[in-house]
Amino acid sequence: MGKLIDGKKFADNLCNKIAEEVTKLKDKNITPGLAVVRVEGDPASAVYVNMKAKKTKEVGMHSVTKILDKNTSQDDLLKVVEELNNDKSINGILVQLPLPKQINADSVINTLNPDKDVDGFHAINTGRLWTNIDSLVPCTPLGCKMLLLDELKDLTGKKAIIVGRSNIVGKPMASLLISENCTVTIAHSKTENLKDEVKKSDIVIAAVGVPEMIKGSWIKPGATVIDVGINRIGNGKKKLVGDVEFSEVKKIAGAITPVPGGVGPMTIACLLHNTLIATCRKNKLEIPKFF
Ligand code: NDP
Repeated sequence: MGKLIDGKKFADNLCNKIAEEVTKLKDKNITPGLAVVRVEGDPASAVYVNMKAKKTKEVGMHSVTKILDKNTSQDDLLKVVEELNNDKSINGILVQLPLPKQINADSVINTLNPDKDVDGFHAINTGRLWTNIDSLVPCTPLGCKMLLLDELKDLTGKKAIIVGRSNIVGKPMASLLISENCTVTIAHSKTENLKDEVKKSDIVIAAVGVPEMIKGSWIKPGATVIDVGINRIGNGKKKLVGDVEFSEVKKIAGAITPVPGGVGPMTIACLLHNTLIATCRKNKLEIPKFF
């Protein structure tokens, strides 16, 4: 039976360490500030944004939440972003996705000041990540990397497969694992013989958005499985499952993240981690190392 990777515990520890660093910054009269912008219309986003604001305050940071009407125009949203870009009390800005149809998410993201882009989605941060220049790294892949390093210590030479090639999870995850000396395969909806590709892999990252798609019979015995998926199923969509068939995969894997309680809490902790880093860089202070 595979070991359960406790993302909640790891994230709580990370938040405690971040809170200690925030206290030290406050002694220097610096309070990291995180602004989250949400355009109304997506019920799940409201829950995520509230959780982010709550955690931001818990670690002692300054938290700003801007909620805009669902009919907000692109120009109005860009004005809010520009205001936050120019706001000296704000070190990190996150625009919650998805955005309504009338708004072009890429334009909004690329209007953010890259130094405040704590989601790490700006094209400048993407380029920096792929060229090994210090960047703000997308939170979910960063959280996955932290869990993998904690579990395996050294990823050198491991064969890793990432199922999913999105800009926010799959692609940055590939860059992070290449930098850790893994041999990386990125799979997607057009991949042939996906099961065989997964079966060859020591590390499996599932970021697909299809409930319980990765089966136990696909897994190499002893592999480490990180399930990024968050899928709501069942009557009333109340039950949360990942992209991995947890009950079967855990029998074969060496270690596995649960859903909930795996990658999800790491994403928020890494958002606070990135806000702390952005604050330290802005103030030309040493960047604390947590892993
Ligand atoms: P996207 O929808 O942007 O990307 C999904 C990817 O999966 C695409 O590359 C797609 O391929 C691929 N895919 C879809 N169906 C299949 C299939 N049958 N076989 C192989 N590949 C397939 O999703 P995200 O990356 O944004 O999110 C992925 C999952 O992670 C979702 O469940 C999401 O809710 C969750 N998530 C969780 C977070 C957390 O904090 N834990 C944060 C972000 C996301 P193609 O490119 O060919 O279409």
